[in-house]
Amino acid sequence: MQRTRRVKILATLGPSSSTKEQIRNLFDAGADIFRINMSHSSHETLAQLVSTIREIEGDVERPIGILADLQGPKHRLGKFKNDKISVISGDRITFDSNPAPGDKSRVHLPHPEILEALSTGHRVIVDDGKVLLNTLECDGKSALLEVVSGKKLSNRKGVSLPDTDLPLSAMTDKDIADLHAALEVKADWIALSFVQRPADLVAIRKIVRGRAGIMSKIEKPQAVARLDEIIELSDSVMVARGDLGVELPIETVPGLQKRIVRACRQTGKPVIVATQMLESMINAAVPTRAEVSDVATAVFEGVDAVMLSAESAVGDYPVEAVSMMNSIAEQVEQDQTYSGIITTQRSPPEPTGADAISAASRQIVETLDLSAIVCYTASGTTGLRAARERPSKPIIALSPVTATARRLALVWGLHCVITEDARDLDDMVDRACRIAHREQFANPGDRVIIIAGVPLRTPGSTNSLRIAYISSDGQSGI
Ligand code: PGA
Ligand code: MN
Repeated sequence: MQRTRRVKILATLGPSSSTKEQIRNLFDAGADIFRINMSHSSHETLAQLVSTIREIEGDVERPIGILADLQGPKHRLGKFKNDKISVISGDRITFDSNPAPGDKSRVHLPHPEILEALSTGHRVIVDDGKVLLNTLECDGKSALLEVVSGKKLSNRKGVSLPDTDLPLSAMTDKDIADLHAALEVKADWIALSFVQRPADLVAIRKIVRGRAGIMSKIEKPQAVARLDEIIELSDSVMVARGDLGVELPIETVPGLQKRIVRACRQTGKPVIVATQMLESMINAAVPTRAEVSDVATAVFEGVDAVMLSAESAVGDYPVEAVSMMNSIAEQVEQDQTYSGIITTQRSPPEPTGADAISAASRQIVETLDLSAIVCYTASGTTGLRAARERPSKPIIALSPVTATARRLALVWGLHCVITEDARDLDDMVDRACRIAHREQFANPGDRVIIIAGVPLRTPGSTNSLRIAYISSDGQSGI
């Protein structure tokens, strides 16, 4: 099984996508990696989803990535008796510390520190800006708010406070417990929400100790201010446009998206564009033109992955949303302007063996019109550096480490295959050619380029490059 597209699709799981059949349908439609949002998932749900995905992985014989997304110091409303209430401007509602389900007059805000810090006149933004409220009165335990704009408040929607100073720590107690649960079930990626400073990453690294990749969600002005240091300390980055567009003026988000994507492509860290990509598909079978254009823009920028949130988690058309994203991506990547745009944003290789070999192998496959680059990658570094070149030919990433293959499922252009280490140089060539043929990237008589660090399994030692023909039976290389 292979995909023809280079950009990856990250689909969030939720009530619309929790059975094996539904998740399999999302995979078949094009999802390469699944996100489990710890804001809404218990540890039991997490474990169940992971085991379902691993079953599907066995059925389809393809490594699938799993991202556990930690809530971070995100504030959410409690629940309503009927799941939601409608509001109009001028309505008044109290946020309090009573966990009982809410109604039109009051609702639980399960964050005592907010109720303590709110003052008259502070804005309270709910649901990514869909509802704006103004604080009329507060006594440290509850707050009376007036609806300025918006139509609906519903269960567990996000609450942002642009005017209120809150004592924020990198990881809440819930995040730490969720992180341990995610490591326990061997999630491939952990996303850290509301990263503010490099120290946040140092803190999470100490716990993770290489057992998963760490993805920083850029959604605070403080993170934008220290972007380079944060990228340096992260294994990947998400442009978390939902909260970014609440924390910063919404019109700054497109420019920030470009800046973050470019900085990540330059350093070779995978970058994901997230939130509201096909938002209207939560309730409709087709997206708006603007949404199609938004997904296309991200693909043209050469991002590693585009993400679906509510569209696949709680929407009415989860499979259609994945399949729409897939079609947009395929179309963009075939567009006559695509390769020119991707090439313009390519950075020169850094002075390392891995980069020199990756750049050379891209030139060679393109000059000689070879079928694919096959790279051996135990730690994932060679795969990442090969992808950083954004070659116009497929990259097959071979890894003896299952966790590496799964983690690299997020990365632009990498078709990952789990295979044993090669025994020697001949076996390295034979195995690469056999797999390129088996995975339908090359026919007998075609040529591929093979890159590896020899001796194999020495991280950061990429030092060899070999052009090989696929033998007439497709079983070896010459
Ligand atoms: P969230 O993160 O969905 O966890 O809030 C993404 C975003 O803020 O865009
Ligand atoms: Mn967010």
